[in-house]
Amino acid sequence: MYELVMWLETHVRVKSKTKMFCSCKNAVELAGEPNENTCPVCMWFPGMLPVLNEEIVNLAVRAGLAMKCTVNKISNFDRKSYFYPDLPAGYQITQLYHPIVEHGEVKTFVNGELKTFHIHRMHIENDAGKLVHAGSKTLCDYNRAWSPLMEIVTEPDFRSKEDVIAYLEELQKIMRFCWASDADMEKWQLRCDVNISLRKPGETEFRNRVEIKNLNSFASISRAIDTEYKRQAKIYDAGGKIDQETRWWNDEKWVSSPLRSKEDAMDYRYFPEPDLPPLVLTDEYIEARKIDELPIDRRLKYLNEYKLQEDDARILSNEKNISDYFEQIVKLTSDPKKSCSYITTVLLAHFKESDDNVSFDSLKFDIEQLASVINLVNKNELSSTNAKVVIEELFMNWWKTNEIIERLWLKQTNDMWALEEIVKKVIENNSTQVEQYKAWNEKLFWFFVWQAMKESKWAWNPKIFNDLFKKYL
Ligand code: ZN
Ligand code: MN
Repeated sequence: MYELVMWLETHVRVKSKTKMFCSCKNAVELAGEPNENTCPVCMWFPGMLPVLNEEIVNLAVRAGLAMKCTVNKISNFDRKSYFYPDLPAGYQITQLYHPIVEHGEVKTFVNGELKTFHIHRMHIENDAGKLVHAGSKTLCDYNRAWSPLMEIVTEPDFRSKEDVIAYLEELQKIMRFCWASDADMEKWQLRCDVNISLRKPGETEFRNRVEIKNLNSFASISRAIDTEYKRQAKIYDAGGKIDQETRWWNDEKWVSSPLRSKEDAMDYRYFPEPDLPPLVLTDEYIEARKIDELPIDRRLKYLNEYKLQEDDARILSNEKNISDYFEQIVKLTSDPKKSCSYITTVLLAHFKESDDNVSFDSLKFDIEQLASVINLVNKNELSSTNAKVVIEELFMNWWKTNEIIERLWLKQTNDMWALEEIVKKVIENNSTQVEQYKAWNEKLFWFFVWQAMKESKWAWNPKIFNDLFKKYL
C-alpha cells in the first residue's frame, strides 16, 4: 500500500475579448477559418512589439482574489525560449520569478467532507497555436497563438483522484463566477497536468514525481491517476526507483509513455522579458476587484444558515445564474426554504421539460413577479395550488402576477363577500336543483358545494362553502 501525493498545474484560457499583446480576437470558442485571427504582432514579424491587454490583468486579479490569493503589486514577465512551429516568436512570455498572484486556497466538498487545497501560485502567459496533421504534411493555425492563459499551480495537497476531480470542478465554478473563463474542458479552455508521486504511509519526504500531460477530461484524469499509481507501485515493489519525468497519456490505449526526462529552468534560457515593463498594480486596483461570495461560501450559507437540504444547497450554488436568481428571490421574500422549493421544483423542472432553450435569461416575467407569488402564499392570500397556476401563466404570458390573479380570479380572500356572491350565483343558476333539494333530495347539497368550488377555481376549502350553503339554502 502506498499513499498517493499529487499536485496540479492547470492552464485556463482567459475569456478576454482580444489576445494578450495585440488587438486580434481571442477566440475562446473554437475559431472558424484557420489563421483568421492573426496580425503582424501575434505573428511576431520583425519590429513588432507586444502591448499588454489590461482586460487580462483585470480578469487574472479577479480570479486570484476568488482563490483567496495574495495579488502582487509588482510582477514581471520572463521569456521562455524553445523552438516549436506553433510558436511564431520562438519563445513564450510567462512569469517565472514574480507571478501576478500567489498563496491562496480552494475549498470544496469531497465525498461530503469539506477540504482545503492550497494554491502555490498563478501566473499569466501566452498560449501557442495549433498544429493540424494532414497526411504527410503539418499545417499551422495561429488563431490561438498569443491568446492569454492563467497557469494555476497547487501545493501537493491531493491524496486521491476524487480530490483532484472535486478541486477541478470547484475551480471551474470559481472561474465562471468571476467571469475569467468558461473553463470548459471539451473546448480546451481548461487543461490539467497532474504530478504524481507515491510514498509509504508515515513517510514525510516526497519521492520523485512523474508529470502526466494531455489530460483533457475528468474521465481521462481519473484513468491516468489509477494507471500511474499501479505503474509506480509495481516498480517500487520490485525494489526499483522512479525517475522524475514527464509522461504523455494515451487515452485510447489507457497507457502513458515517456515524453522527456528532467528538464529545468536552464534548458529554457529564462530571462526577464525586455519588451515589457514590470506590471505594477495599486491597492485601489486590487481592492476594486474583490469578490465577496464564492460558490462554496454560498453553498455553506445555504446549508448552515438557510438549513436547506444538501442536494438543494449544491444545485443552488453550482451555477452562477441559478445562484444569483436564488439570492435575489431570497432578498425579496426573506424565505429561503420556499424560494428554494419554487426554483428547484417549479422553475428548473419547467426548464427541463420545455424543448426550446428556456433559462433564467429568457423568462417572460421579472423576478419580482415570482417573489410576489411566494409572498402571497405566505400571507395566505394564494393557495399553493393556485400559485402553480399563476406561475404557469407567467411562463406563457407577459402578464404580471396580480393581473393573473385578478383575471383568473384566484385570490384566496378572507373577505366573505366574494364567497357569498358565488354561493348566491350557484343558487340562482340552479333553481330546479334547489327545489328538488328543498322537497326531498338532500344529497344535492354536495352538488351545490361542487358547483361553488368549480366557480371559485378550486381555491377554497369546501368547508367554507359548506357553511355558506347551509346558511343560504
Ligand atoms: Zn494579433
Ligand atoms: Mn504554462
